[in-house]
Formats: sequence, structure tokens, C-alpha cells
Amino acid sequence: MSYKCVVLIKQVPDTRAITGDAMNEDGTVNRSKLASIPNPDDLHALEVALEIKEKFGATVTAISMGLPEAAQVLREALYRGADDAILVTDRRCAGSDTLATSHILSCAIKKVGADIVLCGRHSIDGETAQVGPQIAEFIDAAQLTCVGELKDVDKNSITVRRVLDNGWQDAKAPLPCLLSVTDQANEPRVGAATRLMKYKNATTSANYDGDVNELREKNLLIEQYDLDQIGVDLSRIGFNGSPTKINRTQKVILEAKEVKEISPTQEGISAMVKELIEDHSIN
Ligand SMILES: Cc1cc2nc3c(=O)[nH]c(=O)nc-3n(C[C@H](O)[C@H](O)[C@H](O)COP(=O)(O)OP(=O)(O)OC[C@H]3O[C@@H](n4cnc5c(N)ncnc54)[C@H](O)[C@@H]3O)c2cc1C
Repeated sequence: MSYKCVVLIKQVPDTRAITGDAMNEDGTVNRSKLASIPNPDDLHALEVALEIKEKFGATVTAISMGLPEAAQVLREALYRGADDAILVTDRRCAGSDTLATSHILSCAIKKVGADIVLCGRHSIDGETAQVGPQIAEFIDAAQLTCVGELKDVDKNSITVRRVLDNGWQDAKAPLPCLLSVTDQANEPRVGAATRLMKYKNATTSANYDGDVNELREKNLLIEQYDLDQIGVDLSRIGFNGSPTKINRTQKVILEAKEVKEISPTQEGISAMVKELIEDHSIN
């Protein structure tokens, strides 16, 4: 049996790399100064899908919703081993909250069909961890959240180890099933050089002047869908279709205060730990 796996990959700004250069004068983050990367948890989700492919037999389709530039994270999924990729991009997505985003992604998943949907547990920019569980509801699939290890897949079910605050839990669910995967699940592989050479030319139809069928035959087409093509209910997306209303936002101003240099010696580290204990930063 060959399972159909769909992996959701969000393009995010690399918030782990925030430095002084990426800060605006008012203390907010200048996103244009940060590299765009695949959301880290999503690479762990992709790795679980590739594990299913290698151990049990599967096809792996990567899907992203975003601006046309998000094609790059799909290319990176192809470098790592995804079989094909789909970009959902449409200006009418603007203003969509997590519920609307989940509706849009679930329409794309329904269009391609899936036995197993995999996503990251949470993104490093929005960080709500709502999208996976909401999609499971929309596509009427079981869900296993906080996945830390793949255990088994058979014709009717999937078994995983879930990571809990104080331990773990082995859980089995029927297919179709959505897994939201944590960063403890595996070590994502890097892209293979041969795949990189091939898929660096993968592109969406909107960015290709020639005959799209030629790209499709060479498996270099990143399918691009707008909302009409995947049957989105337009009353459930965008600002008007999003139930989340932002009442107030507060800027977090990051200020560089005093800088202290610690020498990389046993004495330097001991002095730093002593100081942290004294000011109760650690116990
Ligand atoms: C009122 C409101 C308006 C908004 N307007 C906009 C807007 O105009 N433009 C905009 O870009 N964002 C907008 N957002 C943010 C947008 O709703 C979120 O980025 C999106 O819903 C994902 O939420 P999250 O980052 O919390 O994902 P999480 O729930 O933390 O993500 C879990 C997993 O879901 C998957 N996933 C999430 N998003 C995507 C995606 N786009 N593609 C593929 N997989 C995905 C990933 O696998 C991810 O690891 C808005 C949010 C609100 C509340």
C-alpha cells in the first residue's frame, strides 16, 4: 500500500536571527532584514513524512499558502525528498486569521486527497499552534498532536509517541489522520546535492513563460492554485471572514543595555553562574 502524505510548510522570517541590524528605530522588528526560511517544526514534519515513505511506501506532497516567494520553501522540500509541491497564493487570502487560513489549507488538502497530513506543532512567527487541529476538524480526520516519534503505520491506522510536559504517551489513531510534529521527532535531513541541482529549476506556472506541460513532464512544476481552483468559501476568509478581531497591540521595545564580556574560561563561567544565582536569574 502507498500512503498519500501531505506536509504543510509555512514560510517564516528567521526570528531566531534577530540582531540589532534587524531592529527598527522604534524597537520593532524589520522583517525585510530577516531571511525567509521554512518554519523549523515543518522540516521535522517533512522528515516524518519521508520516514513513512521510506519504511511503508508513500508519496509526499508539500503545500504552502503564502506570497509567490513562498515557492522557495517548497523547493527546499523538494531538495529534501518531497515528490511534488503546491503553492496556494491569492491576494484574497490577505487578512485571514488562523481559522480562515485553516479553511483555505483544508480546501487544498481535500483537492489533492491525503491519508496522512503532517504539519509543525507551531510556527515561530504566529505561534498559535491552532492551524493543525483546525484543519483536522475541517477535513474530518483524526488528529495526533505533539508528535515526538513515528512508531508504526498500517492500512487503517498510525501509531506515534506524543511528547507531554512530564513524559510521553504512545497513541494510535485511524486514518485519515493529521499529525502535528515537534522538534524532538527527528533530525531533518539536508537536501541531496542531486535533488538540489534538479529542483533549483522547479517553479510555478505564474513564473514560467514557456509551456507548463514541459515543466510538468520533467516534474519541475510547483502547482499554483488560487482560491477558486480549490473551492474556498470566500465568506470564510480574509478580514471579513476572520472571527479574530485585534483590539489592541503592544510594541515590545528591545533595548541593548549594558554588555558584559565573559571570558571563555572555567573562571569566567564560574563567575557568571555565581552572579546569575546572586541576582536570582537561576536557582
Ligand atoms: C486578524 C488576523 C489577520 C491576519 N492577516 C494576515 C495577513 O494579511 N497576512 C498574513 O500572512 N498573515 C496574516 N495573519 C496571520 C495568519 O493568520 C497566520 O500566519 C496563520 O493563520 C498561521 O498561524 P500560526 O502562524 O499561528 O500557525 P500555527 O498554528 O502555529 O502553525 C502550525 C503549523 O501549521 C502549518 N501552517 C500554518 N500556516 C501555514 C501556511 N500559511 N502554509 C502552510 N502551512 C501552514 C505549518 O505546518 C505550521 O507549523 C493574520 C492573523 C490574524 C489574527
